[in-house]
Amino acid sequence: MKKAIVVVDMINDFVTGKLGGPRAQKIVPNVAALLKKGRKLGIPVIYLRDSHTPSDKEMGIWGEHAMKGTQGSEIIPELKPEKTDVVIEKRWYSGFVDTKLPETLKKTGADTLVLVGVSTDICVQNNVAHAYFSGYKTIVPDDCTASIDEESYEQSLKYMKNIYGTEIMKSDSVL
Ligand code: ZN
Repeated sequence: MKKAIVVVDMINDFVTGKLGGPRAQKIVPNVAALLKKGRKLGIPVIYLRDSHTPSDKEMGIWGEHAMKGTQGSEIIPELKPEKTDVVIEKRWYSGFVDTKLPETLKKTGADTLVLVGVSTDICVQNNVAHAYFSGYKTIVPDDCTASIDEESYEQSLKYMKNIYGTEIMKSDSVL
């Protein structure tokens, strides 16, 4: 099993900004610890970063958020990417659409993706789905992901486990 870590939307708008909140903030130290351990083990770290233009479909659903070139779409300072990491901007829930993520993952040789970040039921789940369609095994550490409320979080974890065979575990046993 060769792993890669995919960090989903740990950006200012979704953690401390207008769509953020205490649930997203609570996972930051766990994600930081996992990334630190991953880098030490030589596991590739790929950040996905919502980065929208005004014509994006999501504008009609959520209104303006994570606009390209703004502070809101920057990765939070606590999880600042390192030189060896890859950062990919995305315009859809799934980072596999219209980006270099598929080829970036292929180059790593990974067969298993560890997905962390927010929101569990939106971008994390859609990336898990797309990873599944692309042939990857998926692992989601439940202490490294969050939704706006407990119900959405619980339902999404259950859905990913049942439908995509995602392994749900604690972050300290993932790597
Ligand atoms: Zn978005």
